[in-house]
Amino acid sequence: MFLAEIIGVGDELLYGETTDTNTSEIAVSLQPYAVEIHRTLRVADNLETLAQEVRQAWGKARLVVLSGGLGPTPDDITREAIAAALGEELLLDQEVLEWLEKLFEARGWKMPEVNRKQAMKIPSARWIANPRGTAPGWWVHQKDKDLICLPGPPAEWRPMWAEVLPKLGLPQKPYRQLTFKTFGLGESRIVELLGGLFRRNGQAQVGTYAKMDGVAVVVRGEPGQVEALAAQIRPLLGEAVWGQDGDTLPALALKLLERQKATLATLESMTGGMLGALLTGVSGASQHYLGGLVLYSPAAKSQLPIPLEVAAQHGVVSPAFAEAMAAAARDMLGASYALSTTGVAGPQELEGQPVGTLFVGLASPEGVKSRHFRLPGASREMLRQRAAHAALAFLVGELR
Ligand code: ATP
Repeated sequence: MFLAEIIGVGDELLYGETTDTNTSEIAVSLQPYAVEIHRTLRVADNLETLAQEVRQAWGKARLVVLSGGLGPTPDDITREAIAAALGEELLLDQEVLEWLEKLFEARGWKMPEVNRKQAMKIPSARWIANPRGTAPGWWVHQKDKDLICLPGPPAEWRPMWAEVLPKLGLPQKPYRQLTFKTFGLGESRIVELLGGLFRRNGQAQVGTYAKMDGVAVVVRGEPGQVEALAAQIRPLLGEAVWGQDGDTLPALALKLLERQKATLATLESMTGGMLGALLTGVSGASQHYLGGLVLYSPAAKSQLPIPLEVAAQHGVVSPAFAEAMAAAARDMLGASYALSTTGVAGPQELEGQPVGTLFVGLASPEGVKSRHFRLPGASREMLRQRAAHAALAFLVGELR
């Protein structure tokens, strides 16, 4: 059996300041391989404890992956702990030291003395270049075993790991991963809908992941079984599915607009520009996204070509106002479609509507309609982000 252990290093992982996502991300990346993970660890910035855990892991596993603790400060002790565990000495690498000094020079600084330790390595380790930071990683290969040591920040270690992983020569297994992206169903509702399928199912498993763009339902495992399980799951999720695998809502919305040779305008209240930001985050967006307006105060909204009775009769957080907003935006920008958002981001309720209420208006060549969402979210920020994605999910559903 090919055993792997993954260790996240850092006090902040133990005290909850940082959630250890590195370990699970690395574990997921090992899924296509015939590798078993019997335990993963989070270890404090403590030299003795970490050295002891590395020694144990190295004794049992054929692959040990560590992340974190490669910084320049005295509490970054991962290098020292590995050296102690493997009974080796840390030596300064002159070339890496010069590379580091140049890196600082290029930013107009003199390298602080503390950074010298980032150029230290044990003789049996090879360097793993870090294209995005000052801490290169280590790759120790001894007999049939490998130990990989990566820096903590995901933006730094991801490209390093992507470079090393295929070179480790790990035994592969037939593997497939398939993701249904949903909007409008909570995780618990999905668990309910999937019932028995949710349990560990032979060689294929299902997992749910709540994201800003909804809940991702991931099926992974042996290809044949993944296909069979996914075929059972798809109809249960129904209309809530807006995309698959690498799809994103803004890119998909723009692709569907492209298919119709149509254009889009936005008029945002609750989302304050986040909807426009999502759309303009896609390169080439200007071909189909004309632009948008953010109107936030009642005074600003009263400038819209919307009869004052609409707000007076229905309130501004209402389906009628959302629809009037969308129609106004469509006219003003001469777009084929227009989306609007009006709702309650909190912390107080508004017009008797609870926090998390969202109305999205959609104006199209066929007419105007709206949709009501009750969004979950612990903060104003989260609610606004979800609202922007909800508006796009509505649009995508209608354009299909
Ligand atoms: P640096 O070169 O930036 O100092 P480092 O290897 O010393 O890197 P740490 O100081 O341990 O890394 O962590 C730096 C940051 O990386 C943390 O503040 C956190 O944002 C992120 N990070 C570290 N470990 C993890 C982890 N296990 N899961 C998610 N994020 C992590």
